[in-house]
Amino acid sequence: MTEQLEKYQMHIGGQAIDPASGEWFESYNPYTGKPWALIPRGGKEDVERAVAAASEAFETGEWPSLTPTARGALLRRLGDLIAEKAERLAEIEVRDNGKLIAEMGGQLRYLPQWYYYFGGLADKIEGAVIPIDKPGMFNYTRHEPLGVIAAISPWNSPLLLTSWKLAPALAAGNTMVVKPSEYTSASMLELVKLIEAAGFPKGVVNVITGFGPEVGEPLVAHPKVAKVAFTGGEMGGQAVYQQAAKGLKPVTLELGGKSPNIVFDDAVIDDAVKGAISGIFAATGQTCIAGSRLLVQESIHNEFMDKLVSFASQAQMGDPRSVDTQVGPVTTQPQYNKVLDYIQVAKDEGASCVLGGGPASRPECGDGWFVEPTIFDNVTNDMRIAQEEVFGPVLSVIRFKDEDEAVAIANDILYGLAAGVWTQSIKRAITVSNRIRAGTVWVNTYRAVSYMSPFGGYKRSGLGRENGQEAIREYLQTKSVWISTSDEVPNPFVMR
Ligand code: NAD
Repeated sequence: MTEQLEKYQMHIGGQAIDPASGEWFESYNPYTGKPWALIPRGGKEDVERAVAAASEAFETGEWPSLTPTARGALLRRLGDLIAEKAERLAEIEVRDNGKLIAEMGGQLRYLPQWYYYFGGLADKIEGAVIPIDKPGMFNYTRHEPLGVIAAISPWNSPLLLTSWKLAPALAAGNTMVVKPSEYTSASMLELVKLIEAAGFPKGVVNVITGFGPEVGEPLVAHPKVAKVAFTGGEMGGQAVYQQAAKGLKPVTLELGGKSPNIVFDDAVIDDAVKGAISGIFAATGQTCIAGSRLLVQESIHNEFMDKLVSFASQAQMGDPRSVDTQVGPVTTQPQYNKVLDYIQVAKDEGASCVLGGGPASRPECGDGWFVEPTIFDNVTNDMRIAQEEVFGPVLSVIRFKDEDEAVAIANDILYGLAAGVWTQSIKRAITVSNRIRAGTVWVNTYRAVSYMSPFGGYKRSGLGRENGQEAIREYLQTKSVWISTSDEVPNPFVMR
């Protein structure tokens, strides 16, 4: 018997709406390799409708007249609803994305904090009274929302990465049109139901689904979109940046990475092994912050590699719904093919494959898109496998002699999203962290993120910051207000 596919609608102006095209496309369960849902195929007309709804909600009605405290209360209510429905949301994400239930459980328990934190910041957006150097003049600043924000997200962590945009942008008083990835739209279409239930006025958050060129491009180009917050790949980021430039719009870009995870010979080896594993095999390596270049000091290389390979070879693969599964499927078929292509590239380049190196044909992997956890040793930093983002469970191990060489290799890359440093020396922890050109550095840990701490890329890994107090400023603009308190009528031909 064929399974009934769940048919979704878009969300515009507070209503569930069919796409103007009258077309839907299939969303796949990566564990079974089969479709499970139908996603509306949006187009330009839907973009028009969604931006019009967001623009109207920004200009008129309830939203602009809410006090910041009331806005904050709505965000906190949304956080509560997410906490209540965490299980359902996690289930959807597991089915649509192949993320592990263990990982999603943790993410969903933590996700409400974004709405609580930024809800709390909503009424702390304070301007200043400037002690202006002109007699008879009063001057103050206001930090105002930008207008309609386009939020475009990738497939790898839909709810988390969209929340990084939604929470600060709404706290700042903007309205939004969200376009999730065409591969993983379902969870956002579920989340928007909670946004509605929390009591946000109609049109404040709209969700349109579909493909980058059909929905993403016209959305970015729309003259009434004031800013674009994008997370995705380098090519998508460039396209968005170019399109936004035509309208002179600000952008936040969270792009890819090829992060170095550096293990010095004074590290606690067992901890560093776990750190390397978490850097590349957690989330099946499909994270922008993957520690995909493992830099190991020559003097401990052999001992470290023995432990690493032994640990990784025991990773349990299989059904992402099982709490015991440690490595799930690759989320999309094109990505599965891309990962396998890169494995071939590494082999052709002469890297030594010491673990995995192909599709996983274990019985517990069924028909899903599984790739064996793969480790390449003897990689040099000039190889493609060391320079290009694979976005899968494939680790490149590069040896180094000393601190200077480690830093040189770590920085010899176009990206700068994150890095790991494993050492027991506090001096080394601080000096190496300072020398690394990346937006996040973890010392003796990996893959820690929080709503409180700024996140973003150096170099080609992006522009702007998400999370922390910095994030809300990305969604505000400053106005300077001048008021004359003088009775004097000044000379109109002279600047005041
Ligand atoms: P992608 O760039 O292919 O797509 C991202 C989103 O952009 C999708 O919604 C897509 O439909 C849309 N899009 C594509 N072309 C567009 C265009 N011309 N105009 C407007 N929208 C367009 O990325 P992906 O494959 O979904 O995600 C994987 C990438 O995301 C990886 O490179 C990864 O490193 C990156 N990523 C970065 C972060 C971060 O925070 N830095 C987090 C997660 C993922």
